Amino acid sequence: MKKVFCIGELLIDFVAENQGNDLSKAKEFTKKAGGAPANVACAISKLGGKSTFIGSVGNDPFGTFLLDILQSANVDISLAQQSEIFTTLAFVSIDKDGERDFVFSRGADRELKYNSSLKNDFKGSIVHFGAATALLGGNLEDAYGRYFFDALTQNSFISFDPNYRVDLWKNKDSFIKKCMPFVQKAHLCKFSLEEAQLLSGKTSLKKACKTLHDIGTETIVVTLGAEGTLLSTKNYSKTIPSIAVKPIDTTGAGDAFIGCLLKQMSGHPNLDTLLQNEMELTTMVAMANKAGAITTTNFGAIEALPYQHQLDS
Ligand code: ATP
Repeated sequence: MKKVFCIGELLIDFVAENQGNDLSKAKEFTKKAGGAPANVACAISKLGGKSTFIGSVGNDPFGTFLLDILQSANVDISLAQQSEIFTTLAFVSIDKDGERDFVFSRGADRELKYNSSLKNDFKGSIVHFGAATALLGGNLEDAYGRYFFDALTQNSFISFDPNYRVDLWKNKDSFIKKCMPFVQKAHLCKFSLEEAQLLSGKTSLKKACKTLHDIGTETIVVTLGAEGTLLSTKNYSKTIPSIAVKPIDTTGAGDAFIGCLLKQMSGHPNLDTLLQNEMELTTMVAMANKAGAITTTNFGAIEALPYQHQLDS
């Protein structure tokens, strides 16, 4: 089984209690672990895969809390760093349909320092780049770019999720520009509908995927919530339905989805042939849809991510 390196942010989600989606009125918050790439690492490990998280938290009680959670989900945290800057915080509200609103207080995640000795470990591995905060500057953006270069030169299988957050990116054009090298070179890109439209400049999903394939990426999955997932390659495009659930919190559904897909891919002997195999990929996406759906039926991200036995039943 291949290792999956997940690079990006790990942070505290302070989730507003009992206030609908209005953060201005929230009085009580519950502390949860968050950060999309860290969630993906946990999704992979909870399903029995091998994941390593590369990111930075503060050398403070929140940072310790976060690393403990990753460790108890069996994620390898030996490459995680603790900086003297406070752990990054996100304040989150969830409305009655499970949709979220955010305010970020950015700290230690931006402090990640590049480690050149990892290059060799990337050979034959999967490297997942989750970009919510990684393209926002700081040491993290620099390290991220260098790890991307290493993954390319080591022929790693590269997965990319832009994790667009409107609160973080006032300048959409800058976000699009910074994502382009990943869209160009990644073997697998995971987008929401909004991200596919934003990055392609096309409203129609079909045209958006064509543009994104033309830019370079081979395989695209567009997660569509209750509608399931559009799987698109240069040769075909199909929507794979999800399972019916009653969602209470959609936090982490996209991360569960891509984590489950990468976990399955990590056990495949030849990822080049897998990407050509429509049937095999479809089966994997259907399983990943199930992981996403199950995640919406519980509060929180990491706590809600499924174990393998939940997917088998
Ligand atoms: P994020 O906002 O975390 O990045 P996302 O927008 O990429 O997430 P979603 O589309 O909400 O992710 O969910 C990912 C996958 O989980 C979907 O493709 C679908 O398979 C499943 N899923 C999500 N919501 C539901 C739902 N209400 N019912 C059934 N399945 C769902």
